[in-house]
Amino acid sequence: MQKKTMMIHGGKTVDEFTGSVNAPIYQTSTYKQDGIGNLRQGYEYSRTKNPTRTALETLIADIEHGTHGFAFGSGMAAVSSVVMLLNAGDHIVVGSDVYGGTYRVFTKVFDRIGIESTFVDTTDAEAVKAAITDKTKMLYIETPTNPLLNVTDIAEMAAIAKENNLISVVDNTFMTPYFQNPLDLGADIVLHSATKYIGGHSDVVAGLLATKDDKIAEDLGFIQNSVGGILGPQDSFLLVRGIKTLALRMEQTEKTTLQLVEYLVNNDTVTKVFHPSLLEGKQLEAQKRQATGFGGMISFDVGSKERAEELVKSLKYFTLAESLGAVESLISVPSQMTHASIPRERRLELGITDGLVRISVGIEDSADLLEDLQNGFKAIESIK
Ligand SMILES: *Cc1c(COP(=O)(O)O)cnc(C)c1O
Repeated sequence: MQKKTMMIHGGKTVDEFTGSVNAPIYQTSTYKQDGIGNLRQGYEYSRTKNPTRTALETLIADIEHGTHGFAFGSGMAAVSSVVMLLNAGDHIVVGSDVYGGTYRVFTKVFDRIGIESTFVDTTDAEAVKAAITDKTKMLYIETPTNPLLNVTDIAEMAAIAKENNLISVVDNTFMTPYFQNPLDLGADIVLHSATKYIGGHSDVVAGLLATKDDKIAEDLGFIQNSVGGILGPQDSFLLVRGIKTLALRMEQTEKTTLQLVEYLVNNDTVTKVFHPSLLEGKQLEAQKRQATGFGGMISFDVGSKERAEELVKSLKYFTLAESLGAVESLISVPSQMTHASIPRERRLELGITDGLVRISVGIEDSADLLEDLQNGFKAIESIK
């Protein structure tokens, strides 16, 4: 089945009871038993299993080329459930510029309960190997990264993980299952903040996991049910609906993004543009090998905090907001928003300057988005 078809026909779509072509919203916490322990379809209690969530979980498993899927109440609940596969005393090697919330839960929560992390540049295989100790049990990466869009070679990382008996985890939020399937490249677990592209409409907070390893799936299922950070039926329904248009949204986003990248590269006010299509050498090769697109996130440097602040204020279609991956274009200033908790010196070391602006390109008409940016740049012309 081709990818576009899989987004519509993957998973378990038709309701067996009524023939409804969409999995209904089973707004129920419990299920009538026909005699003690005699369950009709294996459903007993909705923390453990709910048919609407099952529809979503089988769908994410299919579109990520896995065999098991799991839905959580947020991306962070999915991240935390993955870390709970480990024990106190275990160690994780983590990409150095992972999502801020991921950094926070690793350093402020799991560290405290005895699971330590070391953060390394995962575009550098030697640095990753050097960070592995006899306590290391997991390799956790994100590619491309946020906000500087560096690309890590997933197959290379999965191979290092296999050699060292580590569980490899890839946060695939930015690329989506339409552009990139980490399980095909050897990763053990793929993770999504489904709040972003998978939901796609800025109306759900959710997290998803998929794997094709039966033992990992059994353990994740146990953790999901025991810890309980599940996704409810309404939100599960919205994600199934979001996935139906994921292919179309990603193709439109990508087309417009490449036009905006070209405009920004040729703009004198912009000192640097970050987008996976602009990478060189090993990172560009990895991106082309492992993904079928470059994605809809662009970061660019306008040279100063003052210019960045004025630019975001003067735009009409780019909404100033955190988050990404929605039908509407969003804009943010990482140094003052998503990455504000990192000390300025460390931010500058990472390349997150005060003038760095990040956009998530939506599916509005590209001519309008381009015109909006042109007007924005006119508005900051005279600012230093
Ligand atoms: C947003 C995000 C998360 C966290 O997901 P929530 O749904 O906000 O909990 C994790 N990873 C990446 C890459 C994200 O962008």
